[in-house]
Amino acid sequence: MGNCKHESCGDAEKVWLPYEFEGRSRGLKPHSYCVLCGVVKNISPDKAKPMGYYTNILARLGITKVQIRLIAKGLEKTDFDDAYFMTRPEQEEVFIRAVKKYSKVREDEIRAFL
Ligand SMILES: [Zn+2]
Repeated sequence: MGNCKHESCGDAEKVWLPYEFEGRSRGLKPHSYCVLCGVVKNISPDKAKPMGYYTNILARLGITKVQIRLIAKGLEKTDFDDAYFMTRPEQEEVFIRAVKKYSKVREDEIRAFL
């Protein structure tokens, strides 16, 4: 992970894994994985959004610039916007945790912007 450019395995090497969409299990599907770092590719349409989507939300939450900087820094340390394997619901959980860590914004207020 980290700075991996991700290179998917071939069709023959795909692994059958549980597939979730909109929070519900939809049985097994063949997944690619990265031959360089080993992470399994997200094949759900719930793809991660770019960091800019979330920094826009931060700007609208009515928190200070310092808080925004701390939250953005915290997110950058994770593989937050790596769309190869991050899904939108996973990303939202990480985002909410980071915002709550550095501000007093309530979870339902954050979710209203997601
Ligand atoms: Zn990789």
